[in-house]
Amino acid sequence: MPQTITIQLSPREAADPEIYTSLAARRLGIRRSEIALARVVKRSIDARQRNVKVNLSIEIYIDREPQPAPVHFDYPDVSGRTEVVIVGSGPAGLFAALRLIELGYKPIVLERGRDVSARKRDIAQINRNGDIDPDSNYAFGEGGAGTFSDGKLFTRSKKRGDYNKALQTLVYHGAIPDILFEAHPHIGTDRLPRIMTNVRQTILASGGEFLFDSRVTGLIIKGDRVEGVECGDRRIEAAAVVLATGHSARDIYRMLYTNGVRLEAKAFAMGVRIEHPQALIDSIQYHCRERGEYLPAASYSLVCQQFGRGVYSFCMCPGGFIVPAMTEQWQSVVNGMSPSGRNSVFANSGLVTEVRTEDYAHLRERFGELAGLEYQEQLERLAREQGGDKQIAPAQRVADFVAGRRSTSIPRTSYIPGTVASELSSWLPPFMGEALRAGIGHFGRRMKGFVTNDAVVLGVESRTSSPVRIPRDGESLMHPETLGLFPAGEGAGYAGGIISAALDGERIADKVAEYISRGRK
Ligand SMILES: Cc1cc2nc3c(=O)[nH]c(=O)nc-3n(C[C@H](O)[C@H](O)[C@H](O)COP(=O)(O)OP(=O)(O)OC[C@H]3O[C@@H](n4cnc5c(N)ncnc54)[C@H](O)[C@@H]3O)c2cc1C
Repeated sequence: MPQTITIQLSPREAADPEIYTSLAARRLGIRRSEIALARVVKRSIDARQRNVKVNLSIEIYIDREPQPAPVHFDYPDVSGRTEVVIVGSGPAGLFAALRLIELGYKPIVLERGRDVSARKRDIAQINRNGDIDPDSNYAFGEGGAGTFSDGKLFTRSKKRGDYNKALQTLVYHGAIPDILFEAHPHIGTDRLPRIMTNVRQTILASGGEFLFDSRVTGLIIKGDRVEGVECGDRRIEAAAVVLATGHSARDIYRMLYTNGVRLEAKAFAMGVRIEHPQALIDSIQYHCRERGEYLPAASYSLVCQQFGRGVYSFCMCPGGFIVPAMTEQWQSVVNGMSPSGRNSVFANSGLVTEVRTEDYAHLRERFGELAGLEYQEQLERLAREQGGDKQIAPAQRVADFVAGRRSTSIPRTSYIPGTVASELSSWLPPFMGEALRAGIGHFGRRMKGFVTNDAVVLGVESRTSSPVRIPRDGESLMHPETLGLFPAGEGAGYAGGIISAALDGERIADKVAEYISRGRK
């Protein structure tokens, strides 16, 4: 059994295995040479004091090294076994497919978009000339919305499933093992595509199917039971359907609604993306002029209440880029991503506020449970009208936004399609503009220098969470009135983020197996 010790070190000491192993030996009162392996199992940064420290929890193996990883993956051959259709190859769909294979079922993954290599070309087109392919973009395609992202793997919902197994699964498919012990692990957009491809290879090698360019357009419903899906004029029958289409698949919500499948309007969040020079965030968070070579690009997580509403930072991307994340030509939507090294000179984050169902009550009569979706679209259209052609984003300097002043120019940003000066509060819903301005002002008092005209806000950050829930029965996790339909992940309204969607997908797969084994009742 290893001994675990926790030590606090300078960033340089924490980066050097020889130094921390020697310090650990001294702490344990043994010789350095007696330690066979010192393995970091948790690493976090403590930037509360003037001198930033790194906390390391280290497992010390004396005399001999540990046995190989405890989690074992067994993906048996499932060709010829009972088939389950999975719509969407985001984290929820992929983890549902892997779990179904473990349980002896054959997944058929249907993905509207393309494989990651073709998707990279489609994304390059968006940045080059603003052309959006509605099936292959930053939200749609192999690996889902998380493929071209920061790949943050933090989740607050660890209780919902086996968080460690999810991380081990990613490592098994090519993620670096550091994600197993970092306090806030992330993968990076340069490494995610290969991991997604490896997951696809596992599914195919086990006898599952994986079909691209396969947009599901309808459900095959007989009586109160789903028996498969329609992809244009193709029909694919299956024992159950996992619907893991993410929250950007508005056509799926509309298809369900017109087919009488019950949906529920829900609260969600919208706002803007804010971008600072990374060096400024480093200097605020690490209390120094330069962070040096041993500290990672600094991040922040901010939350406050303004006018009775939550205002918070969301999906912060240190050393990252702002990206055009719309799924249709006429929308303006921004989001953020980072490469594994988090080495761009910019730090961006979503800054959003709650949108409650009463905020869009005026749309309920006409659009029913889809009113929140309409509300999102109206704002995306307004932002687009400000920015004009080629996905140019409306933007304002941060100090100007807070003071209610028009910006006469916009500094360089990481957003490749470009920006145009716009007074955001003049077209954001008044409650949103006011809450965001007050919220950013509040954050500026907590982080001195945060409110500056060297920073920019861009619109709109509209795809943080789903405005619609596809209801599930609490026990079977099936749609309460539609047997065999298993809504999963972020689009169903039960997850937010890569890991929580993945854990939800796994849980759903277990429930699918129960449903089939009890005779689809
Ligand atoms: C730019 C960006 C950066 C992000 N960064 C992070 C991050 O760092 N960390 C984090 O935790 N989260 C991040 N997120 C959010 C995260 O990606 C999502 O929470 C997560 O991917 C949701 O997983 P999901 O499987 O539920 O849905 P999605 O990932 O949205 O996957 C849904 C899939 O379904 C497919 N699909 C949709 N409709 C159909 C149809 N009709 N037929 C067939 N297929 C269909 C789509 O093409 C897509 O592949 C980011 C999102 C974006 C856009």
